[in-house]
Amino acid sequence: MKKVFILSSILFCCALLFADVTIVANPGNFPSIEKAAYAEKQVDFWDADKTDERACSESFAAVELKNFLIKVTDLKDTDIKFASPDKMPAKGDIFLLGSEASNKLIAKYSEGKNLSFNSDESFNIRTTKDDSRTITIIEGSDRVGTMYGVYEYLNKLGIRFFGLGEDGTAYPENKVSLLGDVDITHNPDYLTRGFWITSNPKPDPNEMHLWMARNKLNFWTMQDSQVHKVKKLGFILCVGEHVNQLLYIHPKHEYPYNCEKFEGDEDKPKDPYKPSDQYQGDKNNDGKLSYFEAHPQWYGLIDGKRSDHFAWNGHNFCTANIDAATEFGKNMAESIADGKWKYADVVNFWMFDTHYGWCNCDKCKGQGIETDRFLRLVDVVFEEIDKVRKQGRLSRKVLISPLAYQETIYPPTKPLPEGFNYDDCLLTFFPIGRCYAHTISDNSCTEVNQSLCDSFYNWSIDSGRLYKGGIFIGEYYNVSSLMSLPVVYPKIMSSDIPWYFKKGARHFNYMHSPIVRWGTWTLNQYLMARLLWDVDVDSEAVLDEFYRLYYPTTYKTTKEFYHCLEKATANIKAFKHFITLGGDHRFYLTQSWAQCLTNKDKPIFWVDHLTYEPKEMTTNDTLSIVEMLDEMDKARQYIDESLLSCSDEKEQARLMAAERRFDYGEKMYKFLYHLVRTSMFFHQDNDIVAKVEFAKAKIYADILKSITDMANVTCGGNIKNAFKATQAVEAYEFFEKKYGN
Ligand SMILES: [Zn+2]
Ligand SMILES: [Zn+2]
Repeated sequence: MKKVFILSSILFCCALLFADVTIVANPGNFPSIEKAAYAEKQVDFWDADKTDERACSESFAAVELKNFLIKVTDLKDTDIKFASPDKMPAKGDIFLLGSEASNKLIAKYSEGKNLSFNSDESFNIRTTKDDSRTITIIEGSDRVGTMYGVYEYLNKLGIRFFGLGEDGTAYPENKVSLLGDVDITHNPDYLTRGFWITSNPKPDPNEMHLWMARNKLNFWTMQDSQVHKVKKLGFILCVGEHVNQLLYIHPKHEYPYNCEKFEGDEDKPKDPYKPSDQYQGDKNNDGKLSYFEAHPQWYGLIDGKRSDHFAWNGHNFCTANIDAATEFGKNMAESIADGKWKYADVVNFWMFDTHYGWCNCDKCKGQGIETDRFLRLVDVVFEEIDKVRKQGRLSRKVLISPLAYQETIYPPTKPLPEGFNYDDCLLTFFPIGRCYAHTISDNSCTEVNQSLCDSFYNWSIDSGRLYKGGIFIGEYYNVSSLMSLPVVYPKIMSSDIPWYFKKGARHFNYMHSPIVRWGTWTLNQYLMARLLWDVDVDSEAVLDEFYRLYYPTTYKTTKEFYHCLEKATANIKAFKHFITLGGDHRFYLTQSWAQCLTNKDKPIFWVDHLTYEPKEMTTNDTLSIVEMLDEMDKARQYIDESLLSCSDEKEQARLMAAERRFDYGEKMYKFLYHLVRTSMFFHQDNDIVAKVEFAKAKIYADILKSITDMANVTCGGNIKNAFKATQAVEAYEFFEKKYGN
């Protein structure tokens, strides 16, 4: 008995000493690789010393590698050991993780090797033989490159991170061996890749963060409670949106200086601005002087009066007033340096979401169109940021991202101020009014995309362009009104993402990504990640693999399901959101479609993009409502068939998730269909049939009211139920009064 015990102890020790595989990474000052992997809260990701953040991210990559190797190879937990890069492990296969800076063993194997990395996220994976053992070097340009290299290695072993969590991950059918002979280098195409979401961290994006890192996505909105965790995963964090003015020049905020006309503020800093001749004093008698009371002329001149209407869609301040612009810029710069935005990498510099809320004073108008005025303000903000840099308060790189959107969708008409800081400027092109029935560069979309496309061209590559900085694309795959309906974009993404890139864009995000319960959205998310990393990837092959591996036993019918769904949802913008029609200088929004339904003076089908029955068209050709419904019906048949014939448990969960989201879309379409037909009879004064039609709409309204978990899957999305998500509640109630009993 004793002998057996001794023998097994010796064997156990040997296993520890000579593991089959050793993963070598540098845990820095942390006690172990396992500890360093989850030590992000102790890491300062913003200081000049990179040791701790390299240790954390690279150790995390090592832990991920081990966990997934156990799942897909014959190796067991005890077969894989971690080690620091002090010396080469004596035996077994070796993984060397890190960069030349973090792992000196890698440095030894890198002599004379030119890896031509173009970013910190670049990596090389190579193997070399040392007697009988394999040494695999996963070398990142820096920590994030190392992590991406590990995920690419796992990808090469056959693991696919298609969707969220364990259900979303596909593994090779049989156990695999470690790679024997590989030497690949990857550089990212798009440098910024990801999602714009709100700063509300609900629902919990935990699984999505991991999914993003595993798919080499890196752009996210700063959510205070998550900062350290996502920095570990290599995220670039953005702040700011339409609320910027509310934060930094709010008319009701207390004036922070000792205004010489006001008594009781003598303990405040010296006023850097001249008192206003329109000074109002403490007009509201709250004992304090506000910005507006001190300087009414800092605010927008609207209908002949200075306006303090501040809201996300309020009146912009008077940006040509240099004191106002300076104060706004100073407050923003201080926030970026050591305030609320001290962890930000990208600042979304958006004015209010308004079309007619710009100041009408002569000085503002004299600066040019809204874009000219806006970029002058951006320049002032850069000057203020420069001041805090010179004060030694800001050392990290921060990009300012003004937007080309609605009234600023057109490029500037006047030269930008001399010395404009292009190095730190990243203009976001936001084509909110675009159509998704056509690609952005499709010339046949004369009603909508053509003018947006021209505008993009004029910003990005036109030889006479006045703006010369970087271009970020802000897409709208799930713009608010789409309410996370089961829209799929294989054709649009495969064409647009490489096209934007070839025309100069290097940064890409889309708005209002679903965070949980993706269902059919999985296809968009995965395809987008692949295209952003490599715009030349064969998207047909990516999609084919997605269908085959994600739906292994039903891939033929499920693929058809997605094809029909793509057709059914291609014209979703005109059907559910709005499209913007090209104008000479301005784009103008049409009224939301639901409002046309209840007004007999307004045509229901007001553009070629939206027709009821099929129509032969050479331009602006899209599916009619009847055809869209028909494609939905076909999609239903295919997914039902897949559910019946599915013989794989994990796949069944994926199909059910897709079906739930599809079901939400199907009911939404049926509701809108019957509501539109009710309106058509209403427009014909045929109340008898309108009543019958409305009864059908009501059936679907009631079903939609019972769907409570499909529309609220974006950060901050708090839509109560799918009926609210129709955004046609007013039209519905209008008809309910008329035809409801
Ligand atoms: Zn003005
Ligand atoms: Zn179109």
